[in-house]
Amino acid sequence: MFGSANTASMRMWLGVTLAGFLFMSCSRGAAPHPIGAPEHASPSATGLLPKASAQDTALSSKAAIAAAMPQEGAHGGEPPDPAHELLGMLGSLTTSIGAPAGGHLKGGVRLPDSGPGYRHNPKRPDIARYGTVETLQAIAKAADVVEHFMPGSGLTVNDVGLQDGGPIAQHGSHQAGRDADILFYVLDASGKPIPAVGVPLDPKGRGIDFKDLAIPSDDQPVKLDAPRTWRFVQALLEVAPDQVQRIFLVEHLRTILLAEADRQRAPKPIRQRFEDVTCQPSTPHDDHLHVRFFCTPEDMGGGCEDSVPVYPWRVEALKAINLEPIIASAKRTREESADRAARTTTPAEAKKKAGPMHAKVKQFLAEREAWLKQPHPGRPYCK
Ligand SMILES: [Zn+2]
Repeated sequence: MFGSANTASMRMWLGVTLAGFLFMSCSRGAAPHPIGAPEHASPSATGLLPKASAQDTALSSKAAIAAAMPQEGAHGGEPPDPAHELLGMLGSLTTSIGAPAGGHLKGGVRLPDSGPGYRHNPKRPDIARYGTVETLQAIAKAADVVEHFMPGSGLTVNDVGLQDGGPIAQHGSHQAGRDADILFYVLDASGKPIPAVGVPLDPKGRGIDFKDLAIPSDDQPVKLDAPRTWRFVQALLEVAPDQVQRIFLVEHLRTILLAEADRQRAPKPIRQRFEDVTCQPSTPHDDHLHVRFFCTPEDMGGGCEDSVPVYPWRVEALKAINLEPIIASAKRTREESADRAARTTTPAEAKKKAGPMHAKVKQFLAEREAWLKQPHPGRPYCK
């Protein structure tokens, strides 16, 4: 798949290389389908409903009328809306077991194709969109808040995890249903919100969707939509109080979002919480946010384990319900390390497989080196 210099392989390589090389995770690949490709044929396009009801004389007149009704007009007979169903689910349906980088998931729930203010990225693997009820609900609710206050193109969710959790391609963690990759909201060159593309963003929050790496004419400049991205983060910290353990992202975008929080006069405790839980991993996370949730008290009884750090406020929240943090061992066996390495691709491997690149791509990659290894005085990397 990487071998030829076609668009798909180049996009894949761009995703692999520019999206960073994983510590906790990264969205790396991109399927060849253009973003915005239709996900479903509409019922009216199939012509099946009117035809079936007209021909089936055995149907009672009431049933025939119901069958002939367009789906959106029907009540009771229409299929349940997965986005609506998700919000009504009980947390007890799923159990996160073990740690994000070594656990698994019981009863994994599927992120719907779309809901109010969000969509699952259709370019990402269908099998990689399962998580705990609480994880998916928090993301869906926060996206809905953004859509309510700042309607735009909506949130794009990349990989969450597998239905049963466990090791997942292209990620070091995402194993226990509590990690999710979220693309930044972005704007086009004219400032219009567009569906997220998941490309690396520079210290000014700017990036380029290079599409075919060999062709300059198809490049599309994009810019971080800081107002919507901050609003999402704020909403997430508000709808899931004390539940967000980490938000991994590159230092320079963290800085931009903190400035945006000030501009929006965000509640001080929320801004502080964002400061507390954000850090840049050893790989950059300059093209997405990686959100990780703490174990719920219920899941802690079922074997759920948190990773470090555990903040004082987390300890306090658990103490209030007579619990103490359960922390997973950070030690990895040799097999686990080898397994993790086998799931991921090194930058050198990816580059070897990439096709030709035009000058601007090379230039962007050269500039990117600055923030891949940039020391951040006074700011620790994630541990
Ligand atoms: Zn991730």
